[in-house]
Amino acid sequence: MDNRAILFANFKEETILEQTKQLIKSNSEFDLSPSLNVLLELRYLIIEIFDSGLDEDALTYMNDYLSSASYYHQVKLIDNQLVLYHVSEDDEDKQIISKIASDLIKIYKQDMHVKRCENQECQAYFIDTSKNKSKKFCSSKCSNLIKVRRYREKHANE
Ligand SMILES: [Zn+2]
Repeated sequence: MDNRAILFANFKEETILEQTKQLIKSNSEFDLSPSLNVLLELRYLIIEIFDSGLDEDALTYMNDYLSSASYYHQVKLIDNQLVLYHVSEDDEDKQIISKIASDLIKIYKQDMHVKRCENQECQAYFIDTSKNKSKKFCSSKCSNLIKVRRYREKHANE
């Protein structure tokens, strides 16, 4: 599954409500429980963290966001193994803030490399999963576009 903090950071301000609804696959006619302002603030903070790192202040904010959902543990037996799992009584839309925050923490816990697409018209955040961390573009679409553009520029001067 795609990291929800990355997806969320790439949402556009004008459509963030609709895109967040799609993220939780809510087709509800009603507004999301996190308000537009809350979503915009969280997105702003995540972008700050991607650009300048996760410091103590950011952790305090993240703990606030994480606490917006309540979970409890349950246990079951699967093939004679005890399995602990989380249950929440909250609706999906109430949990979304905390899920995005926990996906953000995962990025740093697992030492993933967040980068910004070097296509100036795109600038999407993405996780560089390549071995030598040399990826410059979010997708092959962006990298092909820039390759073609550079080729044209080069040959226009000949
Ligand atoms: Zn891109």
